Amino acid sequence: MSSNVGQNYPYSSETETERAAAVQAAFEKFEGLRDTVATEATPLEPSASNQRWWVYVCPVGDFSGRLHAAGHARERHAVYTVCDTCGKTFLR
Ligand SMILES: [Zn+2]
Repeated sequence: MSSNVGQNYPYSSETETERAAAVQAAFEKFEGLRDTVATEATPLEPSASNQRWWVYVCPVGDFSGRLHAAGHARERHAVYTVCDTCGKTFLR
């Protein structure tokens, strides 16, 4: 992948079904991640069943990870995302 992909710009988008599946997979892969998200973010409330969510490139490692929306950050007006590859969380 090109190294000039901006970390803060969306990489692609996904459906609510895809987002939910990716986040669930990350929760099962990384112990404690679900609790971290529950503590630091409030649940997403899709406004429509056909809503799409942005997917971001994880800045960690070889940039192969993708960040999926997992909630709204409690302390900042930002989307709380989880990486499907390294399990870290980021605000976007
Ligand atoms: Zn990552």
